[in-house]
Amino acid sequence: MTIDATRKTRLEFNKLQKRLRRQVGQAIIDFNMIEAGDKVMVCLSGGKDSYAMLDILMSLQKSAPVRFELVAVNMDQKQPGFPEHVLPEYLDKLGVSYHIVEKDTYSIVKEVIPEGKTTCGLCSRLRRGTLYGFAEQIGATKIALGHHRDDIVETLFLNMFYGGKLKAMPPKLLADDKRNIIIRPLAYCKESDLIDFAEAKQFPIIPCNLCGSQENLQRQAVKAMLHQWERQHPGRTETIFSAIQNVQPSQLADTTLFPFTELMLNRDSEGATPSEDAELALDAELTPSRHAAATELNSDPVEVINVMNLS
Ligand code: SF4
Repeated sequence: MTIDATRKTRLEFNKLQKRLRRQVGQAIIDFNMIEAGDKVMVCLSGGKDSYAMLDILMSLQKSAPVRFELVAVNMDQKQPGFPEHVLPEYLDKLGVSYHIVEKDTYSIVKEVIPEGKTTCGLCSRLRRGTLYGFAEQIGATKIALGHHRDDIVETLFLNMFYGGKLKAMPPKLLADDKRNIIIRPLAYCKESDLIDFAEAKQFPIIPCNLCGSQENLQRQAVKAMLHQWERQHPGRTETIFSAIQNVQPSQLADTTLFPFTELMLNRDSEGATPSEDAELALDAELTPSRHAAATELNSDPVEVINVMNLS
């Protein structure tokens, strides 16, 4: 590589690193993810996302205005061929405190799930249960998971298409039993950036297919659909993510979120309300381009159906 090319690569990497740090910092602020005195248990799977999360959190910790602690935790689920030495070697070099939790969930999953069926659902539930318990044991006040923006958008569509629910994966969550708070500091980061970052940093990735399980076919189909959309309409995933940050219950149909049954006329009020104004403006915007919108709307469901047929 020439000196110029090396310099360019270095510059691009610096930009990428800055962007990721900014996005993680912003998510932490927006959701008050980390507070003074927190002990954050950073869950490491050995995949690119969790390595990136730990790397970025460690760098932010140095400049953060509040003091907080980071503890990396990996779960050795006893999949055949799991390279036990990789994470300890990496974490020792990094100088971060860590624990490796050993639990043979692999045997449980193999025993319970019939051959040929996807094991990821039960495997993740068992992993989650163990990690939640371990967080309490070590006094962790937050559990950080490495899900990113694309994971969140994929989950939104999976819940819509297969669960009939409008829900995604929140950047911050209080566990049902209220004993743990889960945070997702990569919520604003796009997967392609994390792939580039992991490549540049040469993280020692441990594949998540040692168990022999295939990624859930429904998730694969949604991922393919989103990639296709992103190719045809760059920025669409980001727009969808913005949509889940801008929810208008009065424009949906959930009677538990908006009191539709109690709507009352009030003709004494002056003119349209701000939300009515916005709706009128939107209608006006859509009218001239109805043909264009219809073309897009007509083509997309076909793409969706084509992609969904893969599952
Ligand atoms: S791929 Fe294997 S180890 Fe990973 S979540 Fe699925 S079942 Fe568990």
